[in-house]
Amino acid sequence: MKKPQNIIAQIIKNVKKKNWNCLVNDCEKNSINSHLIQQNGLLSNITVKGHLIELKMSDANRWRKEEIPYEFKHLGIRQALSYKVFCNEHDTEIFEPIEKADKDFESYEAFTLFSYRAVCAEIRKKMMSIEQHNRIINANTLDGKIDKESIQLVINGNESGLKDLNFLKEKLEKEIESKEDKYSYFTYKYPKIDIYASAVFSANDLDYPKEDGALDVKNIYIHILPLEEEIIISTGYHNEHTSDEIKEWCKSWDNLSQEDLELKLTELFSRNIENWGISPSLFEKLKNENKKKYIEVLKKNASYFGIAKNKDHFNLFETA
Ligand SMILES: [Zn+2]
Repeated sequence: MKKPQNIIAQIIKNVKKKNWNCLVNDCEKNSINSHLIQQNGLLSNITVKGHLIELKMSDANRWRKEEIPYEFKHLGIRQALSYKVFCNEHDTEIFEPIEKADKDFESYEAFTLFSYRAVCAEIRKKMMSIEQHNRIINANTLDGKIDKESIQLVINGNESGLKDLNFLKEKLEKEIESKEDKYSYFTYKYPKIDIYASAVFSANDLDYPKEDGALDVKNIYIHILPLEEEIIISTGYHNEHTSDEIKEWCKSWDNLSQEDLELKLTELFSRNIENWGISPSLFEKLKNENKKKYIEVLKKNASYFGIAKNKDHFNLFETA
């Protein structure tokens, strides 16, 4: 008889392989793997023999109780932050301004396009998670071996998140089309650190009192783009869905010392976003104890979102 984790591993695999529609409204084409951050001009600046490292869920076949199912994995540049989001035509057409030769990664247009792609990737991830958990609940082979109630809660959480994200997607589509300057954004440049990220996250934590059916749309966008000699940090928000705390947070990336920047990045990657990666050469230089501690901190923060309020002075990027 198959072990439950083998059945779950197979379900995860099947959902990944499934064809998913392009997320552009009314487009019926299959999506290809869209890259949140492109290879040419960005990721190619930090690869080692075409490889990068990202945090991935470990293979369900090897899940053990009390262990966090996350690990750092080597992957080819073509797999870096890539999700089945858009069809080939839309992926090419929509993002042309940030793919063409004279692109400007610090422009408002770049900020909105990266943000749009990040929101759509988050939508796809949630859709896949819902599909996966539904299949787990409905698998006869798992009857009596899983806690269906808690899985249903995960599905409900994802469905509510999906509503928020679809609202954000619509706002960004409108902005990209009509350019009404509805967003504020800030860009900062620092000497190069071999990392990359592109994400959206809610500024509210999970305990935030929310009325039934109300949307959680106070979100922050952040993109960390590796150039040849520098990194660009581009962060912002929708002007009608913001708060003093969000504004302050976006401005807090200005003029940081190397150490403060590393502390802030650690905090961001352990509390707010999971869409990030690192070059194998920098990864090798990080202290092993800190890599372990990072995974531990992730576990501790699993139920925590929102803007970090207390610094714990953990620096993942401290080199050995
Ligand atoms: Zn399409």
